[in-house]
Amino acid sequence: MSRRIYPREVIRKMSKYWNKLINSIEPYTAGEQPKPGQRIIKLNTNENPYSPSPMCKKALEEFDISLLRLYPNTDSRMVCEAVAEVDNVSPENVFVGNGSDEVLALCWQTFFEKDINTDKAVLIPSISYSFYPVYADFYSVRAQKVPLKDDFTIDPSDYCGKDNCGISIANPNAPTSIAMSLDDIRKILNANKDSVVLIDEAYAAFAEGYTSAATLINEYKNLIVVRTLSKSYGLAGLRLGYAIGDKELIEGLKRARDSFNSYPADALAQTLATAALKDRENFERNRQKLISTRNRVTKELRAMGFTLPDSSTNFVFAKPPSGITAESLYKNLKAKGILVRYFNKPLINEYLRISIGTDEEMDEFLKAVREEI
Ligand code: PMP
Repeated sequence: MSRRIYPREVIRKMSKYWNKLINSIEPYTAGEQPKPGQRIIKLNTNENPYSPSPMCKKALEEFDISLLRLYPNTDSRMVCEAVAEVDNVSPENVFVGNGSDEVLALCWQTFFEKDINTDKAVLIPSISYSFYPVYADFYSVRAQKVPLKDDFTIDPSDYCGKDNCGISIANPNAPTSIAMSLDDIRKILNANKDSVVLIDEAYAAFAEGYTSAATLINEYKNLIVVRTLSKSYGLAGLRLGYAIGDKELIEGLKRARDSFNSYPADALAQTLATAALKDRENFERNRQKLISTRNRVTKELRAMGFTLPDSSTNFVFAKPPSGITAESLYKNLKAKGILVRYFNKPLINEYLRISIGTDEEMDEFLKAVREEI
């Protein structure tokens, strides 16, 4: 069995009661959560600073509690219909899960496999959502990291002409915040007709002028697009994500779901998610507010000497000016009650990922940064 080398600060707990897999994996590390009652400015997990739609509140108040006696609809039919309206697809092209993390996990189990004979791997960007390598380990799928270009962009030709058993890309990518164009996604799809291409659009709503890859599902039977209500609808606490793809792919996901948990979305989550999806006005208003704050923060950080790409997400990926390291700035901001995300990993350890909060929160953040640099 291959032995892994872990960073020294990671204390590896093991147990004789856990199987080999659980003893050997390195799970995903979620961003820090504040202690109850602690007043902090939380800019470390890409949540939306604005409350969900008032229609959710109304739906919650009107919710018939007696419905909780019954198991919820397996397919989250109401949600599929609302998604179909928003993304201009048929409800049969939609699969709903308990947050997009669960949908992604089911995609990895359904579409990708380790082919021992040919040694095929799933291609993932070298810097991307850190859950992908965790799924690979957990589901025994081989993953191959494809380096990004020096400016952190993805070159689609790096995903063409390479033998693989699948492709998983976040677009816009995280934590880089950079989006790839729909034309580039087409290039990847055209070159990989025999494997499933997963496009994780967790942050797509914040990309100005971006057209969802979901518009391509009728052209490409091998495309699965994953989206979430956590970021753009301000519903991270509800746990609702979905996939859009050809019916054959959706059927595969349902087979995996029904071998694990037939009721991933509870009745209340289905009701509130449907209300949120239908309130286009609230979605658009909050999206625009966030984009405008993000663009202002980008300018102000650049004026202070930070290096950062144009963001297509609800966070920025910024390298502090010389004189302070990303790690020190992260620690100093934390001491002032401001949490941002620092990744102690090669290639990205000079950067901070800063989620965009309200204008007031970002003003406090910028003031604290000015005092530190
Ligand atoms: N994809 C990406 C790229 C993410 O950053 C996240 C949030 N951590 C998710 C998916 C999962 O989001 P959720 O499970 O809340 O839908």
